[in-house]
Amino acid sequence: MRTLEFKNKDKMPAFGLGTWKSAPGEVYSAVKTAIKSGYRHIDCAPIYGNEKEVGQALAECIDEGLVKREELWVTSKLWNTEHLEHDVIPALKKTLSDLQLEYLDLYLIHWPVSLKQGVGFPQSAEDFLSPEEAPISATWKAMEVAVENGLARHIGVSNFGVKRLEALLETAVHPPEMNQVESHPYLQQQGLLDYCHAHDIHLTAYSPLGSPDRPEGLKGANEPSLLDNPVIKEIAAEKECSAGQILISWALHRGVSVIPKSVNPKRILENFEAQSVELNSEDIERID
Ligand code: NDP
Repeated sequence: MRTLEFKNKDKMPAFGLGTWKSAPGEVYSAVKTAIKSGYRHIDCAPIYGNEKEVGQALAECIDEGLVKREELWVTSKLWNTEHLEHDVIPALKKTLSDLQLEYLDLYLIHWPVSLKQGVGFPQSAEDFLSPEEAPISATWKAMEVAVENGLARHIGVSNFGVKRLEALLETAVHPPEMNQVESHPYLQQQGLLDYCHAHDIHLTAYSPLGSPDRPEGLKGANEPSLLDNPVIKEIAAEKECSAGQILISWALHRGVSVIPKSVNPKRILENFEAQSVELNSEDIERID
């Protein structure tokens, strides 16, 4: 299993399970199937509305002796309505309680924008807090407290571009160790990846399969399907594996973490097995 190493030598399994859109009723068995198949990294967030069920599955897997807590890597994220400094630790404690965990391996600021408490999907500028009202440097200070008091082993961000990372690095005492962003062959993020690696920040690629099940409102008109891309399909046929496996393997070969979501037992296993799909430099060049 490929791992990404942090400064304190902790190792995060590069391959993990995504849980956005995994409905309550489905996510419980998805997490259990994943852990039974060998997954050791689960990506969560309170906004996915399913952390309690993920927590139930994790607790059962630990109780049944399938896995030890210390063998698991659990990531969760601070939602946009909880950015004020005094809201961060209570939000993290709620996530820990839902996940039935004492600590997270990684806690991320989900997005670099702040919403007022109680706002669901923002409808107007009124729903946001300005950077002056909710400076990200203050949110980060509370994230640092989470590390200091042992609630999170590592902290990072998500959906941050280079400018926002630069600004954060200016004030951070514990620099962010992870940036989780959308990344796949149609949005490779090479410049951001180079910046992150130059600053000791790992990158996690989300939506590595192109997120085909995301809500229609989040899709462009006539957008191409990654899983149907002719180059991806050609390489998959050559290697006698699936297009999804090629996309996952491509991400792993770039030295990033990758967290495909599935609630389907066959695809959960298929995605796990992508870790042994080898791509040579020519395959990678064709995909790039
Ligand atoms: P993915 O790119 O992982 O795609 C998930 C979709 O692909 C589902 O419809 C799934 O269906 C299907 N699928 C899974 N495996 C295969 C396969 N081998 N072949 C064909 N289809 C497959 O999308 P996500 O957007 O869910 O991204 C992954 C994870 O990243 C999220 O679940 C979440 O944890 C994280 N994320 C983080 C964000 C952030 O802002 N930080 C934003 C978006 C995602 P099925 O379940 O039926 O198998």
